[in-house]
Amino acid sequence: MESREGSNPYNHVKCSLSVNDKEYYYFNLRSVDPGKYDKLPFSIRVLLESGVRNCDGFHVTQQDVEKIYNWEQHQKSEETTEVSFKPSRVILQDFTGVPALVDFAAMRDAVNQFGGNPLKINPICPADLVIDHSVQVDFSRSAKGTAATTDFGSPPTLRVVDLEDAYGSLRSHTARHRLPVFLNLNDDSSNANPMGGRGTPHRTHETEPSFKNSCHSIEHPPAVTRNLNEGSESNVQRSRVPPIRTKCRSQCDGVTCLLSATSVIEAPCLRVEEIKENLDKRLGLTAIPIPDRLCPTLTDRLCPFHHIPSLWSDALDKNQDLEFERNKERFAFLKWGAQNFKNMIVVPPGSGIVHQVNLEYLARVVFDQDGLLYPDSVVGTDSHTTMINGLGVVGWGVGGIEAEAVMLGQAISMVLPQVVGYRIFGQLSQLATSTDVVLTITKHLRQVGVVGKFVEFFGPGVTELSIADRATISNMCPEYGATVGFFPVDEKTIAYLRQTNRPAEQIAYVESYMKAAGMFRDFNNHDEDPVFSETYELDLSTVVPSLSGPKRPQDRIAQTDFKLDFNECLRNKVGFKGFGIAEEKLGTTASFDYEGATYTLRHGSVVIAAITSCTNTSNPSVMLGAGLLAKKAVEAGLEVAPYIKTSLSPGSGVVTYYLKESGVVPALEKLGFNIVGYGCMTCIGNSGPLPDAVVEAIEKNDLVCCGILSGNRNFEGRIHPNTRANYLASPLLVVAYAIAGTVDIDFETEPLGYSADKKPVFLRDIYPTRKEIQAVEQQFVIPAMFQHVYSRITIGSDSWNKLESPKCDLYPWDASSTYIKRPPFFDNMTKDIPALQSIKEAHVLLFLGDSVTTDHISPAGSIARNSPAARYLASHGLSPREFNSYGARRGNDEIMARGTFANIRLINYLVSKPGPRTIHIPSGEEMDIFDAAERYRKEGHDLIVIAGKEYGTGSSRDWAAKGPWKLGVAAVIAESFERIHRSNLVGMGILPLQFLEGQHAKGLGLTGKEKFTINIPQDIKPGQVVDIQVGEGSSFQAQVRIDTDVELAYVRNKGILNYMVRKLA
Ligand code: SF4
Repeated sequence: MESREGSNPYNHVKCSLSVNDKEYYYFNLRSVDPGKYDKLPFSIRVLLESGVRNCDGFHVTQQDVEKIYNWEQHQKSEETTEVSFKPSRVILQDFTGVPALVDFAAMRDAVNQFGGNPLKINPICPADLVIDHSVQVDFSRSAKGTAATTDFGSPPTLRVVDLEDAYGSLRSHTARHRLPVFLNLNDDSSNANPMGGRGTPHRTHETEPSFKNSCHSIEHPPAVTRNLNEGSESNVQRSRVPPIRTKCRSQCDGVTCLLSATSVIEAPCLRVEEIKENLDKRLGLTAIPIPDRLCPTLTDRLCPFHHIPSLWSDALDKNQDLEFERNKERFAFLKWGAQNFKNMIVVPPGSGIVHQVNLEYLARVVFDQDGLLYPDSVVGTDSHTTMINGLGVVGWGVGGIEAEAVMLGQAISMVLPQVVGYRIFGQLSQLATSTDVVLTITKHLRQVGVVGKFVEFFGPGVTELSIADRATISNMCPEYGATVGFFPVDEKTIAYLRQTNRPAEQIAYVESYMKAAGMFRDFNNHDEDPVFSETYELDLSTVVPSLSGPKRPQDRIAQTDFKLDFNECLRNKVGFKGFGIAEEKLGTTASFDYEGATYTLRHGSVVIAAITSCTNTSNPSVMLGAGLLAKKAVEAGLEVAPYIKTSLSPGSGVVTYYLKESGVVPALEKLGFNIVGYGCMTCIGNSGPLPDAVVEAIEKNDLVCCGILSGNRNFEGRIHPNTRANYLASPLLVVAYAIAGTVDIDFETEPLGYSADKKPVFLRDIYPTRKEIQAVEQQFVIPAMFQHVYSRITIGSDSWNKLESPKCDLYPWDASSTYIKRPPFFDNMTKDIPALQSIKEAHVLLFLGDSVTTDHISPAGSIARNSPAARYLASHGLSPREFNSYGARRGNDEIMARGTFANIRLINYLVSKPGPRTIHIPSGEEMDIFDAAERYRKEGHDLIVIAGKEYGTGSSRDWAAKGPWKLGVAAVIAESFERIHRSNLVGMGILPLQFLEGQHAKGLGLTGKEKFTINIPQDIKPGQVVDIQVGEGSSFQAQVRIDTDVELAYVRNKGILNYMVRKLA
């Protein structure tokens, strides 16, 4: 059956809208049924608009639209209601973007083979791909020597701090020529108490120990202070001193390098013309203020955002170098994709975190398609896609096949959701942050249960929250279990669009359209409140500084109760809130040497402190709050123990920009919060190694040491194998606990450390108020920053620009690549749709029970050394340390096929022990699942899988459907299917069959050793019941879980990709 798209029955409700003398038009949803429309939650109005606009009688039917209009009525029904939804766009990150682009590249080949125009294969729906998931914290302040796989040729490079550069700002930069480092913010900092932090009990040096034996000595820089509250460049207070004239040791004899006024330069300085020429040539930029002379050591690295010489810690450069070294093949492929696919933006690595870039730049809020206005909505291949709901854009995370389907212009099928109204009122206290709000909401909504529902925020308190605050709350939606946490568009949304420098024309039509379409909210107007399925509320004034953990984001603890809670967790039996430490082991300590000093770890010691995750890095208030706290801490003489792995990974260049401009970067760096990269980093577990001495001390003494991070997930093993307790907290508290060096501290009664004059310094002494933070934010977070950063977003770093990628329309697959390989989805495909084939005398590859997850079917983690995938990689000359994970290998079907069902916890009733093994039924031999599938394939046998309830539960994962397809599985017979996984199976042309109500495999007396014949009539209908013959004798019936005509078209075509190739060839 082919497409039956018809004309839109709602064309008559299109009406015009004049904005600034320009004519637009839109679908006036209210005019269809004003009584129903005005009661709908705002999030449902977005689904409705999509249904009305895309109604073609095939992908989206009039019944779909009517169901949405009747949302309130469906809420009262016990039955779930499914509707089709076409999002406005798709967003991908690199882990999931690679397999999607691999499929698109293979589709081009297939269309080409059929004599069609391969250039027709492009995303139909706009798609944006941000490369952000690959960078890790190999290098940070305390990880100079710990990165495992790189050789930068010499001891760690050191950081040079310039007091005053030609831009008039305080900066630090990389000295690639091993320059000594000094960072003094205060005149007396060299005399400050070096024992400031509680984690530095035996420190023996007076200042940064690693600089003591430097071959050059230079004078200590004089003091620089900045009055942040007065703050602009013109009124910065400095202790102005003439630049120290240091002799350059090369040709430019005697010239002062302004950027390195305090440094000893080992290489010649260049003239400004040469630098400018260099920049002009490479980037076409001319408006950059260049000082008279620059040190050439600074010009071989360009800050990817400002395209001026990189002035940050060398950790950033080194981590980015390693990122490229590890991912060169994948990046080159993505670069080819960026150059070849239309309707797609690829944001190069090192630019930022996908959801923050989405918020600050990619989100349209309202689309203008040739004058037709409609609301932005998005599905993304990352669970925290939900963040964009803070900006009034409905969006959530989906699996790869669904995302590809949407990119190919298909609709996704979804359950019409219940909508929980969450009323916010009151005002936040001066000390609470948005992180505290989201941890409070997460705990609350987890308790009431919102899984699978939309949450929509309303009430006067919403106006108290900035868009960044709202985005933080929306980001953690997967942690409270909802599908979306939606904030409708209001005046603040429009102000944010201005702040982030969206074009004036766009801002005008966003506001006009949203108002005309009845999607613009006044949170103070109670009369606008829609009908909700149920409501809950939060008084913001009750929110207090909080942390969550030690193992789950919903386990919030008030910071004031934290010490007590941690000590209880130590004693509690092992569980989400327990480590089961015996009474006599509670006082265990472990001493170790690091960088020439001796330190002691105990239970509760902090070893990782990371300002990470788009959850918080997108929020200037908490980032500047951390900076202000750091500044006050440094001024008070506090430090962070050097063995603590501190890091700061901003979610976009804008963060760096405002941190730098507000003058807090030196203080953050002083405490070890150097910028280490632009990507997910510690949030996704890319925290890199800890110092060996720390690892040894923890492991030998079985210590419960802690990670403290501004992230959103903290289950055991995610952050680092050696941090058994992981706490989520605001960036401010991350800095505070890093200084403390332990979570076993009561900030009310115990000082963070001591000042130079031996006075105790408490957290309350250095904690900035919301008012202070807001003042700095207002001054420094300005539209020009967004303009500056995002005008260059697709240019990328030097490494990206130098990366070679093929220049051709069809991707030249490299047969030797173990990362990128043409998938076999179109091998042996015919241009005509083949007849449906019955499944004859199929063997059972696996006989499974209930709740088999997508992680059982296609694990994402490490590749076991004795697995079929490992053998494949070894046969290509790779050693185990080069295997990488299944997640990173999703561009190679051979590896993913070998990794299908490779979960060591898989229970297959055909074998006696859990693991990735099965029986080859004809021979009775036990073997790896992949090997059995291969043997069946060679013998010409059909294969099926039998399963229990909820087959395919867990995160949606494309390879959980692609993998079984590749193994030759033609059908899965299960008691029930997880909704998205079922549609993914259909998308791969695998037949989902469901046992009839009350029946199951064991009840039918099946053993899995029989042969199964499934007769499929040519005129099969969605939901039809078919006969399944068992061996020579008995039979039973099962329902075909093809639910719609669209799905039937996919199955007839043997999958959605083949369907699209036939359509476009
Ligand atoms: S920073 Fe964390 S939440 Fe954000 S995209 Fe990366 S892994 Fe996801």
